[in-house]
Amino acid sequence: MRFIVVLITLLLLIACQSSDEITSKTVEMYNGTGDRVGTAALNETAEGVQIELTLEGLNPGFHGIHVHEYPVCEGPDFTSAGNHLDPEGNEHGLMHPDGAHLGDLPNIEADGAGLVDVELMLPEATMLDGKNSLFGEGGTSLIVTENQDDGVSQPSGNSGARIICGVIAKEDEDGESEDAPTDPTEFNEDQEE
Ligand SMILES: [Zn+2]
Repeated sequence: MRFIVVLITLLLLIACQSSDEITSKTVEMYNGTGDRVGTAALNETAEGVQIELTLEGLNPGFHGIHVHEYPVCEGPDFTSAGNHLDPEGNEHGLMHPDGAHLGDLPNIEADGAGLVDVELMLPEATMLDGKNSLFGEGGTSLIVTENQDDGVSQPSGNSGARIICGVIAKEDEDGESEDAPTDPTEFNEDQEE
C-alpha cells in the first residue's frame, strides 16, 4: 500500500515537473447574472479536445456553442470574450464551404427541464502549445448562445445573445493551478515512514 502511495506521488511530481502543460481542465460555466450553471470538462485526446458539458437553466431546445478568442467572461452580454476563435481566418459555420472557425461547435440541445448533458469534440484544437491551442495568449472562453447556430450566417450563425460563459485558462481566477503539485514534504514523509 505504501508503495502505491509513493508511486502515485512520484507520478504526480513527474507530471507536474515535465512542463506546465495541462491536458485536462474543468471550466466553470456562469450565466449573465453570475450564477454558476454547470461545467465543461476539457480533455486532450488523439482526436482533438473533448468537452463533457453539463448545464442547467436553459430554455428547452437548441443553442449555439462556440469557443471565443479571449479568456474574459464579463456579464451580462459577454462581449468581453471577443469573436469566435479563428486562428486560420476562416468563415464562420460548420456548414460553410470556407469554414469553419476553430471554435465552432455543433449545436447543443437542452431537454424539457432545461438540462444539457453532452459530449462535444473540437477536432482541430489542442490544449498543448501551438497555433490552435485553447490556452494561447492567456486562454480562451466557451460561450453558449440563446439561439441555435444556423451553420452558415456570418459572423456567428444568427445564434443570438450570449447567455453562458466559462473561462478556459491554465490557471483559475484565484491564481491556483488546478493541477498544482502535492506538497513535496509529504513525499519525504512517506519515504521515511
Ligand atoms: Zn464561428
